[in-house]
Amino acid sequence: MLNSDEAQALWVRLNDLKCVSPDFGSDLFAYVFLGELSRLRPQYESHLLRCEHCQIALKLYRSQHDSGKVLVEYLEIGKKIIEEARAENRTIETKTLSSGMAYFRPHEQGGLGLTVVVHSDGEVSSVEEQSREDFASVGHTQELI
Ligand SMILES: [Zn+2]
Repeated sequence: MLNSDEAQALWVRLNDLKCVSPDFGSDLFAYVFLGELSRLRPQYESHLLRCEHCQIALKLYRSQHDSGKVLVEYLEIGKKIIEEARAENRTIETKTLSSGMAYFRPHEQGGLGLTVVVHSDGEVSSVEEQSREDFASVGHTQELI
C-alpha cells in the first residue's frame, strides 16, 4: 500500500510519462484483471519492463482499488455499452479492430468517455476511460499478438 505522499509523487511522475506503446498499454487492465488473457502474460510483462508509465499506473491502480470489485463493475458497464450499441444507440461509436470490436460511449457532460474492447470470440477484453479524440486517433489497430 502506498502512503499519500508516495501516491502523490507517483501521480506527478505519471503526468510526465507516456506509454511506450499505447495500444498495448491500454489493454494492461485486461491483463491485470482477466485471467483468460494469461496467454498474453509474457508480452505484458515485457511491456511493463520497458514502460515506466504503465509500471506507475499499475502501482497506483492496485493501491487504490479493490481489484475484484472494480472488475465486476467494469464488466457490467462494458456489457451494457455493447448492448446499447447493438440496439443501434447512435451515441455509441464503434470501430472494427483486427481482433474484434471497440465501442465508445461519450460522457454526457463532455468529459472522458468509456471504451470497451471486445475480442472476436465475444469476450470483453478491456473497459477504460478515454477521450473521443483518443478513441478516434489512437488506433487499437495494432495486433496484440
Ligand atoms: Zn505502457
